[in-house]
Amino acid sequence: MRRINGEWAWPLVALTLTGLLLAACGAGGGGNGRPAGNAVPPSEDLPLVETTPPPQRLLIPGETTEGELEAGGTERWVFATVGGRLVTVEVWFRPATASGPEAEVVATLIGPDTAELVQAAGTVTLPPYIVEQELGQTGSYLLQLEARSGTPGRYTLLVTLSDERLLTRPEVYTGTLSLEETPASAFDGADSGWGFIWPSPRRAISGWYFHDPANPGHNGLDIAAALYDPIIAAAAGTVSFAGPSGGYGNLVLIDHADGWQTWYAHLSYISVMVGDQVAQGETIGAAGSTGHSTGPHLHFELRHLGVPVDPLVYLR
Ligand SMILES: [Zn+2]
Repeated sequence: MRRINGEWAWPLVALTLTGLLLAACGAGGGGNGRPAGNAVPPSEDLPLVETTPPPQRLLIPGETTEGELEAGGTERWVFATVGGRLVTVEVWFRPATASGPEAEVVATLIGPDTAELVQAAGTVTLPPYIVEQELGQTGSYLLQLEARSGTPGRYTLLVTLSDERLLTRPEVYTGTLSLEETPASAFDGADSGWGFIWPSPRRAISGWYFHDPANPGHNGLDIAAALYDPIIAAAAGTVSFAGPSGGYGNLVLIDHADGWQTWYAHLSYISVMVGDQVAQGETIGAAGSTGHSTGPHLHFELRHLGVPVDPLVYLR
């Protein structure tokens, strides 16, 4: 397969692809305009709701991050974990940026099933602190910080997940570890990573996460990407669909080992064709905003035996 090493190559790729697709359509005798050999679009009848979510940002457990709480404001942070781990949430404020040391803050942790797990209140000088002995579910968690009174101002946030507990893999994983090019380190208890790598150059979310409480039908993860950002294969596999597909816009599906499948939607360009073998990290297209989309981003789905699972748990 061709490899693309920079955005300059996209117009050329697009022209080449257009030529290939037109040639394929011509050879097929016209009709529905679909290239010969292309798979049936998987999801013409599936709705994809890509409205604008409340602002929420990706949080990497173990790494500090910065935020700012205005008067009456709420900040939302999303992180993923496997079930059974101990979590701590620490937040520190900068009194010089606050309206006063008594400005009140409430931290709320919401589980993948949208249930509120724990809530802690505090102030700028005595911030909320959360310790939850066991996060029971594998999936994406939402941490919400709210200014209840005053202006708490700038803060530093740290979420840690304990490694002391024995990790149990999600039941959907078959345990055979046969994904190609998967380093052993991805399976040694790291918080996420079963061989799938982040498919966009920007490690951030830009919209809905998996089964977001405000949009529970959203089966994927909206990953930040600028128009024409290269999108790469999360793991080695075979392209099983490449083309327009309803609300998904320009969509690529890649079939991986052990019944896994990845979806890459809203692409501006597609640089692979059905049947192509792709390596992990190989460019498959460019980010865009085709289909039902409110702006350039990558709608990414991960399915196992046809069932959508939370990508944030599996991507590293
Ligand atoms: Zn989406």
